[in-house]
Amino acid sequence: MQVKYVIFIAMAMVRFMTRVTEILKTKEIPDSSTPRLDLELLLAEALHEPRSFLYANSEYELDAEQEKIFQALYQRRLQGEPIAYILGKREFWSLELMVNNKVLIPRPETELLVEIILDKLRYERADVADLGSGSGAIALALAHERPLWDVVSVDISADALWVARQNAMKLQIQNIEFCCGDWCNGLPDKLFDAIVSNPPYIAKHDPHLQEGDVRHEPFIALESGDGLDAIRKIIVQAKDKLKVGGLLVLEHGHDQSDDVQKLLQKGGYKEIIPYKDFAGIYRAVMAKR
Ligand code: GLN
Repeated sequence: MQVKYVIFIAMAMVRFMTRVTEILKTKEIPDSSTPRLDLELLLAEALHEPRSFLYANSEYELDAEQEKIFQALYQRRLQGEPIAYILGKREFWSLELMVNNKVLIPRPETELLVEIILDKLRYERADVADLGSGSGAIALALAHERPLWDVVSVDISADALWVARQNAMKLQIQNIEFCCGDWCNGLPDKLFDAIVSNPPYIAKHDPHLQEGDVRHEPFIALESGDGLDAIRKIIVQAKDKLKVGGLLVLEHGHDQSDDVQKLLQKGGYKEIIPYKDFAGIYRAVMAKR
């Protein structure tokens, strides 16, 4: 009788313990384009383990505390909150960056801007500015790759600058200075070898603003009037902050390449080169003052 009772309790306990495989097989995230990856990331977070742990330990049973943490994270994701905000981090240029909903989630295609600058700016020492730097992604990647460059990270949002500063401290990147301000008006009084920016470039009424992760990101980092307002301003202002021959490198929307090139021509820039992202879409442009 007593033995039976013990077996019953043991079976009940087993039923309450969830295995990694079970979660990955049964849970769904209907709104996500990467539901399996999302689940793996949330599970790994709940277990305080790297994602690879899940593959090596697929029969691992979550304890009650881990199960509770996982459920809380999973519920947030079901409500549509982006994975990067739930985890509080996102990788960019192989640097782990802290992010929150005051900054745009760094996109892999933005690494193209870092590649262009590293490829085209061959000086050992250089002054480089990142306008509207958000989490600091571009500025930190450049400062990390080129410790002898002096990088300035500008943002109009004090909350965003706080995030970028935290990232610099955590990554122990010291050749970076942070300034609060509106595009070039936030820059110190000197001329730059390169100015780079991933500004807001989505038109106010673009339905893309109502979709997926974007709904949770700061509007100020995404929306820009007809889509080109910020880019227009930067093109005009950067002319006075670049050395002769200095580079302006901008990210833009999937259908804005021609417009941005025309604005650069009108602004008196030379050697305008459009660049495609890894999806084959014209996504960035470089020009010389
Ligand atoms: N690339 C982002 C998107 O389309 C927008 C980023 C931006 O406006 N700079 O979701």
